Amino acid sequence: MAPSLTHRIRRSLRRPLRRAWDRAFGATVAIDTAQPVFALTFDDGPHPSTTPMILDVLERHGARATFFMIGEAARSHPEIVARVAATGHAVANHTLHHRSLPGLSGCDRRAAIMGGLEAIGPSAQRLLRPPYGHFDLACWWTARRCGHDVVFWSGHAFDWRDADADQLAANLRAAIRPGAIVLLHDAPQHSDEGSSSPRAALARALDRVLGDLGGALQSVTVPELVDLGRPVRHTRWVSPDAA
Ligand SMILES: [Zn+2]
Repeated sequence: MAPSLTHRIRRSLRRPLRRAWDRAFGATVAIDTAQPVFALTFDDGPHPSTTPMILDVLERHGARATFFMIGEAARSHPEIVARVAATGHAVANHTLHHRSLPGLSGCDRRAAIMGGLEAIGPSAQRLLRPPYGHFDLACWWTARRCGHDVVFWSGHAFDWRDADADQLAANLRAAIRPGAIVLLHDAPQHSDEGSSSPRAALARALDRVLGDLGGALQSVTVPELVDLGRPVRHTRWVSPDAA
């Protein structure tokens, strides 16, 4: 049976309405750009041994990245925050304690975001990556009230799960394309448990992939990427219940 006129109208309106909703209330997941650029992003640092190792790899390839830092960790390692900022990378906010935001009261959410910003220090930009990717409309509203843009990702390398450099390099290659925002972690993850050299496999994978790209695609900071195209935003967030 042919769909009714009402059904067809509803269906034709759904996509533009969805786009308008995403533009108004969404988080940035990628940038629509014709330029050969993408953004590597690193969460959960700074860490005294693994963050410098990642910075060395980026420096070797002239790649810039964005580090979403945990305020508590930044407060413990201000010298690494200073190195990240001084070497052309962007410093951004991953909250004060890395607690899942949707479970917090509005007051505690605000304290998590603004506390993170203050603990990281003056180099911190008002870009927020919610811990665990947990987010909802109430969190969006708090982030906006705190003057933050919310940045998710278009791809990742499963670097919290995979510990093999070959596998990580393959994951990374699959995530990299023009306009991509790639989620990685510069602090030790589950995949580093039992390892004498945490994040070393990721550093090797990163070194290999950036070397293979040879500058054909350039990794820039998230603010630089935003300036080179149109943000792609969506509201299909992950709540703790769905994670
Ligand atoms: Zn995190």
